[in-house]
Amino acid sequence: MSSTAITNIAALVTNDPSLGDGSPLGLIQDAALVIDGEHVVWTGESSKAPATDNRVDAEGRAVLPGFVDSHSHLLFAGDRTQEFNARMSGRAYSAGGIRTTVAATRAASDADLERTLTRHLAEALRQGTTTFETKSGYGLTVHDEARALRVAAAHTDEVTYLGAHIVAPELADDPAAYVALVTGEMLDACAPYARWIDVFCERGAFDGDQARAILTAGKAKGLHPRVHANQLSHGPGVQLAVELDAASADHCTHLTDADVDALAHSDTVATLLPGAEFSTRAPWPDARRLLDAGVTVALSTDCNPGSSFTSSVPFCVALAVRDMGMTPDEAVWAATAGGARALRRDDIGRLAPGALADLVVLDAPSHVHLSYRPGVPLVTEVWKRGERR
Ligand SMILES: [Zn+2]
Repeated sequence: MSSTAITNIAALVTNDPSLGDGSPLGLIQDAALVIDGEHVVWTGESSKAPATDNRVDAEGRAVLPGFVDSHSHLLFAGDRTQEFNARMSGRAYSAGGIRTTVAATRAASDADLERTLTRHLAEALRQGTTTFETKSGYGLTVHDEARALRVAAAHTDEVTYLGAHIVAPELADDPAAYVALVTGEMLDACAPYARWIDVFCERGAFDGDQARAILTAGKAKGLHPRVHANQLSHGPGVQLAVELDAASADHCTHLTDADVDALAHSDTVATLLPGAEFSTRAPWPDARRLLDAGVTVALSTDCNPGSSFTSSVPFCVALAVRDMGMTPDEAVWAATAGGARALRRDDIGRLAPGALADLVVLDAPSHVHLSYRPGVPLVTEVWKRGERR
């Protein structure tokens, strides 16, 4: 192993409040960071950097932890351009939404699924994402859910079983039978490839009792829950997530005061996914309300071919600042440390001694430029596990 110092960093976001300015971002000005092997071993003022085997001059750029995208749906095939175009053109569009993707995904080969996954992963990495979670949910048969998760598990540790995305079309008239499949044979086939279990708890998908049965069955198989909660309407999803100690309640767009209070007194992160509201012209989730109540907030892309086809965390950061009441600092924290919390990880989402050396170099002097200069490709370098990618 060799050591490398990145010096002359104008602003280093460590997300360690014991460092630098003492803010949640633990911001160090005129900083350096030392990597040994896969890990960060030192951070501090650039002038005090210790001797190392290699030196890289950041030339006054900003460095922050790699983005942790804790919610995506990248095991899919097909295309829904026409659906998006119709929605944005104010035209009715009757073809099937998620069902369109299910049909295409079932027809795709394993190699097709892997090609689509790796193409989007490369795209995300170029934009600074060094950790991503991804879900099944477009197979909805025992065979198709299990093979999607097998493909995913070859590329990330953060794999989520979402057999309960919608009721499979062939069982639309018998949702109880589908829940029995999801909690039985399908779960048995999928559990070996997954760390998490998720359910779309929403009117038209799965109600609170069904969602509780699905997540409880997953827990019994060693999977930890996360929940698609309160996206389209008020409902039981957030309360259920807190009840079951889910790592994350995702979307959180329609919340009662009791929902906000429950999140604030739990270890469940509220993961906000503004790409979905952007792509469906829906009302934004109120990040300010959650933060003021003391809720831990994460930002993620929800990258999927239907309702949020973006892999760009910087885009989500800019939306969160412009439209959801977050400060630039809060949005950067949510997209890095917040994502790590939503995955219950402490080895990522921060740049302090002991953390993995997953980092982003911006062609800008400050992390604030992510929201100050929206849409500009500011990510110039990405390091993952101590290697420049
Ligand atoms: Zn989702």
